Amino acid sequence: THFGYQQVPVDEKVKRVAGVFDSVASKYDLMNDLMSMGVHRLWKKFTIELSGVRKGHQVLDIAGGTGDLTMQFSRLVGEEGQVILADINASMLKVGRDRLLDRGYGGNIRFVQANAECLPFPDNHFDVVTIAFGLRNVTDKDKALRDMTRILKPGGRLLVLEFSKPTNPLMTKAYDLYSFTALPLMGKLFAGDSDSYRYLAESIRMHPDQDTLKGMMEAAGLSEVEYHNMTSGVVALHRGIKL
Ligand code: SAM
Repeated sequence: THFGYQQVPVDEKVKRVAGVFDSVASKYDLMNDLMSMGVHRLWKKFTIELSGVRKGHQVLDIAGGTGDLTMQFSRLVGEEGQVILADINASMLKVGRDRLLDRGYGGNIRFVQANAECLPFPDNHFDVVTIAFGLRNVTDKDKALRDMTRILKPGGRLLVLEFSKPTNPLMTKAYDLYSFTALPLMGKLFAGDSDSYRYLAESIRMHPDQDTLKGMMEAAGLSEVEYHNMTSGVVALHRGIKL
């Protein structure tokens, strides 16, 4: 209040998420491979398949981070299409941008810093919107789902790839053990930061399960919402269509 203005209270969650991703940005890709034992590549491959992205499409990869999905979409949409890699975090966006440009991508990609809750894009614009391992970090998920729906064209698809609820008790046990012991330990060993990886485990625990998320997508205005469990429900891919 030292300028006589009332200060806007900073959302604790936003601050925390920003801290986590500033801290992990440079190690993000390595950690993804280590922690998922490479399996995140298969989860993403399936996401690309179900997206139905084709030549000429307009695609938004929100919370796109270092651009794994964006890279594949860039190939698929060709020169007539466009992919926007958007992320709220400048450090992640910079790592993503450098990585994609280094690999010769760029012509049909735009990089935009944006919050999934208030997207700076017009209504009815995109053929496909994806959010991969991003929704659980978003403070107001319902608002984000509504805004992602708003910017889809009629017939457009929203794909949400996210950790979910394991479907069998054995997997639940193994997964709990893994995420509360091995994850923070790996975070400490390889990224020098166990807190961020503890946050990761906690945020996964708090995230809505398969049917709850499906209901949230329907409430946001999407139709034909379905989900596919992967790795016994450790991860689920939800897809909805805007009619
Ligand atoms: N999609 C990439 C992938 O699958 O490898 C990156 C996922 S990473 C775990 C989560 C990303 O979500 C981070 O880059 C973070 O900055 C971003 N993020 C967190 N909250 C966000 C928000 N409200 N709006 C947009 N991006 C957000």
